[in-house]
Amino acid sequence: MTDVQFQSGKDFAVAMDECDPLRDYRERFLLPKHAGGKCVYLCGHSLGLQPKAAAAYIQQELKDWAQLGVEAHFRARNPWMPYHRLLTEQTAALVGAKPVEVVVMNSLTVNLHLMMVSFYRPTPGRHKILIERGAFPSDQYAVKSQIHFHGFDPATSLIELTPLPGESCLRDEQIESLIERSGDEIALILLGGVNYATGQAFDMAGITRAGHARGCVVGFDLAHAAGNLHLRLHEWDPDFAVWCSYKYLNGGPGCVAGCFVHERHARSWDLPRFAGWWGHDEASRFQMGPSFRAMTGADGWQLSNPSIVSMAVLRASMDIFHEASIERLRRKSVLLTSYLEFLLNQRISSSFSIVTPQEKERRGSQLSIRILRHGQALCERLAGEGILGDWREPDTFRVAPVPLYNSSQDVFRFAERFTAEID
Ligand SMILES: *Cc1c(COP(=O)(O)O)cnc(C)c1O
Repeated sequence: MTDVQFQSGKDFAVAMDECDPLRDYRERFLLPKHAGGKCVYLCGHSLGLQPKAAAAYIQQELKDWAQLGVEAHFRARNPWMPYHRLLTEQTAALVGAKPVEVVVMNSLTVNLHLMMVSFYRPTPGRHKILIERGAFPSDQYAVKSQIHFHGFDPATSLIELTPLPGESCLRDEQIESLIERSGDEIALILLGGVNYATGQAFDMAGITRAGHARGCVVGFDLAHAAGNLHLRLHEWDPDFAVWCSYKYLNGGPGCVAGCFVHERHARSWDLPRFAGWWGHDEASRFQMGPSFRAMTGADGWQLSNPSIVSMAVLRASMDIFHEASIERLRRKSVLLTSYLEFLLNQRISSSFSIVTPQEKERRGSQLSIRILRHGQALCERLAGEGILGDWREPDTFRVAPVPLYNSSQDVFRFAERFTAEID
């Protein structure tokens, strides 16, 4: 599908949509409206759209709560006690993990902290954390606060990978040679699966291999990768990963997040961890005893009983992912994003450039367009017409055609208006 010869006319977009095997999934989402029509929504990297079925999934839980009260924990149609487990199989399949390796809980930054409590174990000789320069602010704050928490100083304990002069993205060999060079001082490598600003996807298998060879713990923030890339976490072998569910996974604002802990740590009872009752062995959880005994696998990192309503929405979306399959979604995503790139390149000028890598292995759905001047005003003008991307200071317009609900005609309309409006 990727060797399609794109054409610049609108007919081509219409023809692509007609032969798109996933085109009906668009009807299962609520697209925001504008002037009586549907928006061109290219913000799935920021907040995914609402599955139409979400309301019914929530209603079911409200109904069981109304009719059963506390007894719904055991007697609801989907009992709340083990409710999070309804998401385990599908989540594992989505990220290429074994069920014991994943859990849905908390929010992303909370999970990142919980993972660092267990997996960032600095010593005087090995105390550094390696991240990307310009990592998402929450990740920067989390990492720096963990470094302080252990009595170290980010000035000497944080290494930030920086693109080579004149480049926007990191080169794989640059990352690996830094790990090779400084690996014995690095306690934790923590990179995004896809960088939120540039849209660059990293070689997670290669980075993990390089890190482990030098004795580093390796974790990934998959906020922009889960539901976007075809992940194979078990095989790629990082120690942990975390992600949120409201971006590509359409779980709704503030939805419960995801967490992966590699199987080799499933019974690492001696790892330090911040514990809560929901991570305690299920068989004896309600004996309310004083000493904590962790559940096997990722489940053992849970803290609190999770939000059923929030998980209900996520189930509505995960059922769709399961049906469509991430392999097929990724194939369509590669096609849509390449088509967008093709259309923009037809009209490329000195006013804008695409900073996201060109190779499909090095990106997901998103293209980041760097605009020389008046970019934010352009972004706002398009939003005024119902064409939604998002603006990231200082100069980047991010757009992501996502395969579940975007079409080639969305991409065409965006590119047509963007190239007409750019200075
Ligand atoms: C979206 C995003 C976050 C947001 O964190 P929350 O805890 O969900 O508010 C954090 N890190 C990255 C890389 C993100 O893309």
